Amino acid sequence: MSTRTLVQIVNARPSSDGDGVKIKRIAGREAMGIMNPFLLLDEIRSEEGADYVGGFPSHPHRGFETITYMLDGAMRHRDHMGNEGVIASGDVQWMTAGRGVIHSEMPEQEDGLLHGFQLWLNLPAARKMEPAAYQEITREQIPVVELDGGSLRLIAGEFGGESGPVDSGSTEASYMDLSLQANASVEIPVKSGHNVIVLVFEGATRELKAGQMGVYRDGDRLALATAEQGARILVLAGAPIDEPIAHYGPFVMNTSEEIEQAIRDYNDGRLVA
Ligand code: MN
Repeated sequence: MSTRTLVQIVNARPSSDGDGVKIKRIAGREAMGIMNPFLLLDEIRSEEGADYVGGFPSHPHRGFETITYMLDGAMRHRDHMGNEGVIASGDVQWMTAGRGVIHSEMPEQEDGLLHGFQLWLNLPAARKMEPAAYQEITREQIPVVELDGGSLRLIAGEFGGESGPVDSGSTEASYMDLSLQANASVEIPVKSGHNVIVLVFEGATRELKAGQMGVYRDGDRLALATAEQGARILVLAGAPIDEPIAHYGPFVMNTSEEIEQAIRDYNDGRLVA
């Protein structure tokens, strides 16, 4: 076993998306290569309704998956397939856009704490035009592995003899929500060759502070430890997709021609036909 080393730190940046929703974003040209197969990670966290009430009204996606994980508050989702649901504290929505989805994602509250993440997970060319699909995973379906000095919620992947409820298929994504107390440590087996990224969103580890994403390279074990303060951490890992990325707004394809086709299909009402 060899332990991965931290090779790069990316700082989350304030941004906005949807109808004026304030977010912190990790993405962009710099991040996309190192996050592969992940494309983007957004955090919403505010107690002020004005920061989020606009939500994300009807919009399309094609060519990848969006994974929404709520920690506090609730969001209502509606899509063109007739799926509708509210995900609240601890729940996950795993949405495979495939050839096309049109949906809205709106806060189910006008004030009070809303805190959650949206992760974009790319699909390989062979799966970009597969039929859209939608999975809702409730808090109770997500295994919690107790650690010495913390706990780990397993949304996807394997740890401590448990398996997360979602199998992402060829991208082999792991999605873990790790809580560590002060002066604690954990070792997580990871597949050599996978990209592994770690976002600290509260507190600090020995290497990263809140709002920083770390890229850990080369090895089959990820070691994380805290010092005088605890930390809340997302650990993401997956098999990189060795294909070009063409990204425009809500579409992620391999070529600019495919992006132009997606825009034409959406404008002509054929994205989800
Ligand atoms: Mn969306």
